[in-house]
Amino acid sequence: MFVNPSGVTVLTRENSNLPGLARMDGQYAPALLIGLAAPCVGSFAGLVADRLPSGSPTVAGRSRCASCEARLRWHELVPIVSWLAQRGRCRRCGAAIGWAALVAELAALAVALWVLLALPERAWLPALALGWSLLLLSLIDLKSMLLPDRITLPLLAAGLASAALLAPERWSDHALGAAIGFGSLAVLALLYEKTRGRTGLGGGDAKLFAAIGAWIGWAGLPSALLIAGIAGIAHAFIQGRGRLSGGERIPFGPALALGGWIVWLHGPLAWR
Ligand SMILES: [Zn+2]
Repeated sequence: MFVNPSGVTVLTRENSNLPGLARMDGQYAPALLIGLAAPCVGSFAGLVADRLPSGSPTVAGRSRCASCEARLRWHELVPIVSWLAQRGRCRRCGAAIGWAALVAELAALAVALWVLLALPERAWLPALALGWSLLLLSLIDLKSMLLPDRITLPLLAAGLASAALLAPERWSDHALGAAIGFGSLAVLALLYEKTRGRTGLGGGDAKLFAAIGAWIGWAGLPSALLIAGIAGIAHAFIQGRGRLSGGERIPFGPALALGGWIVWLHGPLAWR
């Protein structure tokens, strides 16, 4: 079995083997607020992922149908609920809204629930910042094969800052994690390019892994990479409908994000 040895991560599940509900005494109001805000965050992340690569303004124009340009009413903008009520279609022209919007909203909610159930309250804010940033990067990478510096680099800085605040005595492990995270994927990318004669990993992947190293510390990186590798192969397998051709490009960001997220929350993998 894989277990959490509580080794290197800043935050560990203390005092209890139960999911966090038992420790949520008196914290129902903030938890409810986070639960309600989460789908809105997801909705916004989906919107940013849609518009950021094309350079169009991020916030303006939210309230229009992409197809018929009709202005949307407030009740057509409620995350998750509106999508389900309209069965994923525009009320006026019937154009499909697309699954991506619903998936982003549900994923942001899943991140929030995961955080609320797995972590003590003092860790909620940094955890949400990390989880939702990784979700945003995953959505952007899936949509446009990009991991923008203006999100990965601040995420790296935030990881070092949260380590300094939450576990100052282990700060150097996290700084080293950022350096090794970047270096290891940069070397991997170079090797891939030399042997296969084409680019397999982008520079954005190395910067994302550096940011992940800043959050989880160097000792968590092998576990994160292992989880990412398995997730990446599974993704390629599903995309290739059961075949691994190796020919098509698959964004690696979401797999790295998943690996980093699991290790940050639950610690590195260990063989019991
Ligand atoms: Zn429409």
